[in-house]
Amino acid sequence: MNIHEYQGKQIFRDAGINVPNGHVALTPDEAVEVAKTLNSEVYVVKAQIHAGGRGKAGGVKIAKSYDEVRAYAEELLGSTLITHQNGPDGTEVRRLLIEEGCDIKDEYYISFVVDRATNRVVLMGSEEGGMDIEEVAEKTPEKIFKEVVDLATGLLPFQARRLAFNINIPTELVNKAAKLFLQLYDVFVTKDCSIVEINPLVTTGDGDVMALDAKLNFDSNALYRQKDVVELRDFDEEDPKEIEASKFDLSYIALDGNIGCMVNGAGLAMATMDTINHFGGKPANFLDVGGGATAEKVTEAFKLILSDENVKGIFVNIFGGIMRCDVIAEGVVEAVHNVGLEIPLVVRLEGTNVDRGKEILRESGLAITPASTMAEGAQKIIALVDESK
Ligand code: ADP
Ligand code: MG
Repeated sequence: MNIHEYQGKQIFRDAGINVPNGHVALTPDEAVEVAKTLNSEVYVVKAQIHAGGRGKAGGVKIAKSYDEVRAYAEELLGSTLITHQNGPDGTEVRRLLIEEGCDIKDEYYISFVVDRATNRVVLMGSEEGGMDIEEVAEKTPEKIFKEVVDLATGLLPFQARRLAFNINIPTELVNKAAKLFLQLYDVFVTKDCSIVEINPLVTTGDGDVMALDAKLNFDSNALYRQKDVVELRDFDEEDPKEIEASKFDLSYIALDGNIGCMVNGAGLAMATMDTINHFGGKPANFLDVGGGATAEKVTEAFKLILSDENVKGIFVNIFGGIMRCDVIAEGVVEAVHNVGLEIPLVVRLEGTNVDRGKEILRESGLAITPASTMAEGAQKIIALVDESK
């Protein structure tokens, strides 16, 4: 789960990490109100969307007066910001962060991530902070330094200082920076983050070290114990279909193809998508109905798939292990009765009670095309979708 920069900065503030004073604003009036509370001559108006790269896309504006704050707020609110992180459709800006302008001396990059190679949390840093860390990683990887954290001890002070030295933080600020890294590690652990990133971390004209940006990503498996974090969720930033799916405990990811997929098990769902691609089709979604799918869940899954108007055919690919094929077949038949179906449906069942399952589909009298293998099913649905064009 992601949150906005202003929410991340509040978490930082609570943890004692230096951030500019500022507040969220939802209207131009509020933006000016916030600016008036700030003790500053320069204000920064920042679009709040769940994507980085806002600076380059024109989503970060420097204002020198309340009138300019208002003008930028009017310009940004309601506009669509397209950055290199959020894809060609962009994201509508509905919230702004109004904060003090900072007298930046140098910009650095800092993050904690989970490194799957070492199974450890890693502190990463670079003196090439600012907007293009991906480019640094690609072109000058030697400018990225790492400290591997032992979970038993946590980040050790000497590691924090070593990283600060490695990324060339001025000697007199190394202790301040190291303290910030330790506080940031605390945030990472206590909030069950999967990523915490500050880009840029800055040194300021008056000798401070400060987080100018805040990106936090939380491990969704830990959200049950992070009630405060869950409250920060912004549904506007999520695909409505994915929100609907999460209500029914379905794992659904919208894609841009035209063949809806309903599969049980994440691995089989991936394999199904690969197979469709292999035969020249394009999956419209990833959907794992899980191990214990009931008729109700299957119905919801159908509704979800059909709510995507690009879907021109559905491929159901179920392996009945724990779940029995006859139960799934009944679920499919019930779902089709409930939802109605005007597009081709191919069903491939395999596993426990498969014969009974196929019988149920046959006896239903519905226009369901059976398939015996995944490859056959994929080819059939692709052909049917092509025919219907
Ligand atoms: P993004 O990563 O989405 O581009 P950032 O929050 O990193 O957005 O802002 C982009 C750039 O804007 C920063 O690298 C920094 O140079 C400048 N900036 C951001 N916030 C401030 C601020 N409060 N004061 C001065 N400059 C800022
Ligand atoms: Mg940034």
